[in-house]
Amino acid sequence: MDIGFIGLGNMGSPMARRLIEAGHKLIVHDQRSEAVERLVALGARAAKSPAEIADQVDTVLASLPSLQASLDVATGKGGVIEGKRIKRFVDLSTVGSQMAVRIHDLLAKRNIVQIDSPVSGGVGGAEKGTLAVMVSGPRADFDVLKPALDVIGKVFFIGEKPGSAQTMKLANNMLSATAIVATSEAVVMGVKSGLDPKVMIDVINSGSGLNTASRDKFPKSVLPRTFDFGFATGLMVKDVRLCLEEAKSLGMSMEVAEAVGRLWEVVIREMGAESDFTSAIQPIEKAAGVVVEPAKS
Ligand code: NAD
Repeated sequence: MDIGFIGLGNMGSPMARRLIEAGHKLIVHDQRSEAVERLVALGARAAKSPAEIADQVDTVLASLPSLQASLDVATGKGGVIEGKRIKRFVDLSTVGSQMAVRIHDLLAKRNIVQIDSPVSGGVGGAEKGTLAVMVSGPRADFDVLKPALDVIGKVFFIGEKPGSAQTMKLANNMLSATAIVATSEAVVMGVKSGLDPKVMIDVINSGSGLNTASRDKFPKSVLPRTFDFGFATGLMVKDVRLCLEEAKSLGMSMEVAEAVGRLWEVVIREMGAESDFTSAIQPIEKAAGVVVEPAKS
C-alpha cells in the first residue's frame, strides 16, 4: 500500500526500510536531510512536509522523539492535518495517553482518524521486524493497517479507546526502565564486594534474576562499556515521567516506579539526555566508587 512515513531516526529508519522491502510504496519526511536520503536510496520518495505527504496518501505513520514533535507533525502548521487525502495518522511514538487523546480530538475535527501504535523491542527489534506493536483505534482502520504493521513486528490490538495502547506501552517501558537500574545496582553491589560482573550476568541469566537488561543490555553495551544500545536517556526519562503522570491521573501511586523515576532523574542530570540509556549504570558506579568491568583473563 502507499504509506507516508515521518521521523526516520533510530526506530523509524529501520521500520521504513522493512516496509519498502515488503513492497509498500513510501513517501518519507524528516527534519534531517541525510536521514531522508538514506531512504530515498532504498526506493522511497521524499516530501518536504507532513502536509505534502498527507496530500498524497491515506495512511501516514510517524516515529518521533517528543510529544511536541508528534503534536506539531499531526496538527501544527504544515502538519498532516492540512492534507487533502489522509484518512489515518498512526503514531508509532511513545507520547502517553493524554497527548494521544489531544491529537485524536484535534484530528477528529477534520475527519482524520488517530491511531496509537507505540512499539517495544528497540533498534534490534525494528531491524529484524520483531517489535511488539501495540495498537488502539477503530477496529476497521486497524484491519486496513494490520498487513503493513505485520512487517515491523507482532501486532496486538489493545482496544478502541484512544490512548489505550499508550498506557500499555508505558507499563511495559516502566518495567524496562526498572530492569536497567535494578540490574545496575545489583551488579555494582557484587563488583564492590569483589565479584566478576561477567560471571554475575551469566548466573543471573541462568537464574531467576533474568531480565531484559541482564539478557540484552549488559552483554551488548554495559560490560563492553560501549554504551551504544540505541535508545537515548532523554527518551527513557520521557517514558518514565509519562508513566508516573499516567498513574497520577488515575489517582494511584506506584511506589517502585517512583523510586525508579528518582534514579533516572539522576541519570539524565549526570549523563545528559543524549547519552545512551545503558549509561544509567555510571552514576550508580560513581556513588559506589567502582567500575563494572569483567576480570581480565
Ligand atoms: P530518534 O531521535 O532517533 O528519531 C527521531 C527522528 O524524528 C529524527 O530523525 C528527527 O530528525 C525526526 N524529527 C524530530 N522532529 C521532527 C519533526 N518535527 N518533523 C520531522 N522529523 C522530525 O528517536 P527514536 O529512538 O527513533 O524514537 C522515536 C520514538 O520511538 C520515540 O517516541 C521513542 O520513545 C520510541 N521508541 C524508541 C525505541 C528505541 O529503542 N530507540 C524503542 C521503542 C520506542
